[in-house]
Amino acid sequence: MARTEPIKAVRGVRDILPAEMPLWRAAQQGAAEVGRRFGYEEIITPILEHAELIERVGEDTDAVAKELYRFDDRGGRNLALRPEATAGVVRAYFEGGLNQGPQPSRLYLFGPMFRYDRPQKGRYRQFFQFNVEAIGSAAAGLDAEVIELASEWLHQVGLQDLRLELNSIGDGKCRPAYLERLKAYYRPLKSQLHGDCQLRLERNPLRLLDCKVPQCQPFKADAPRITDHLCDECAAHWAVVRRLLEGAGIEYQHNPYLVRGLDYYTRTVFEFYPGGAKGQQDALASGGRYDGLAEAEGWPSTPGVGFAGGLDRVTELMAAKGEEVAISPPADVLVLPDGDLAVEAAEVARICRAVRSTAVDYEPKSLTAKMRSANKLGAKFVVLLTPEDAARRTARLRDMSSGEQTDLAWVELPTRLA
Ligand code: AMP
Repeated sequence: MARTEPIKAVRGVRDILPAEMPLWRAAQQGAAEVGRRFGYEEIITPILEHAELIERVGEDTDAVAKELYRFDDRGGRNLALRPEATAGVVRAYFEGGLNQGPQPSRLYLFGPMFRYDRPQKGRYRQFFQFNVEAIGSAAAGLDAEVIELASEWLHQVGLQDLRLELNSIGDGKCRPAYLERLKAYYRPLKSQLHGDCQLRLERNPLRLLDCKVPQCQPFKADAPRITDHLCDECAAHWAVVRRLLEGAGIEYQHNPYLVRGLDYYTRTVFEFYPGGAKGQQDALASGGRYDGLAEAEGWPSTPGVGFAGGLDRVTELMAAKGEEVAISPPADVLVLPDGDLAVEAAEVARICRAVRSTAVDYEPKSLTAKMRSANKLGAKFVVLLTPEDAARRTARLRDMSSGEQTDLAWVELPTRLA
């Protein structure tokens, strides 16, 4: 028979293998624990959304269209795999009636996001985020709160060396006038900008500030800074956020070039980077205020603030730092039947599982070979079962660290293993 090629994973997506799970578990459990400590509740929203939900609020449309996993389902609905969680969480906040409850709604979410981007290390087409959203309040206290939550989480998983960058991008009241200033500054320089920036100049001038292309860098230093042109309300908000962070002992750097390209983002924007080396690094977590998002989705105008942390990048950094996470064997106890004793071995395993994780080695191989695998797997105990033992409902329990062996009845196993 002709062998067919095995089918491999889709480009840009990957498996998280059991060996990586201790770090993933630590990152997620740390996140959930910190979230709960701050009074946030978990929510799960669908991976599938109407493409329109994403597109209606999407970045200068080209980028969203290019990166969006979008398809028609069998019923002809135009759907998308979510590229981020906030649009869906805000939708759920209204559809689920959370807007009727006490405000703000403090929510956190874990899940996969999808972007058709060029895959590379730290950038995948399916990646996992820890999302935190506080919806229903415009208080600056919440901006600082979600930043503190992100910082606590990263510290808790062992990433103490961080750089927090912070900026304010104003709101619908002060930003338009600032953008006019920015355009006026850049127009005479247009021919010296790279192609995309020439287009951004009229379409999305804020994005000129976070361009990474070398030829556009020299012009930034003299560009007007939005934090010098905030309206009174935005200036007060910006001052309170900074005062609260100082009060919390959280160091930050004001980065006047940290922006978002969408109108619904307002005021605070922030990003956490690994500390040390500066430059073109990927953010571990990014967030900000989005007071215009609900309205952009067609709901009543409602403020919100939040962030998304990338679990892929956080766990990669934890691994690179040699973060110590206790690795436990898949099962503490291995039952090793000597011969055709599957039914009896299964029963012994059931008894042991009352107190410890237990697996059975069902493979048709010698006891010596089974002992070798038990050693390799790091089992703490093995239960050896011969046909004579099985007939008497007894077994031999071996403590793998001391080598001590005891013959005992099956019913005694739970007390001996506990
Ligand atoms: P964003 O939604 O683009 O602000 O991203 C929030 C966080 O998600 C980033 O700080 C990254 O940690 C993570 N992230 C974003 N895009 C990717 C990707 N393609 N692969 C892995 N992680 C990502």
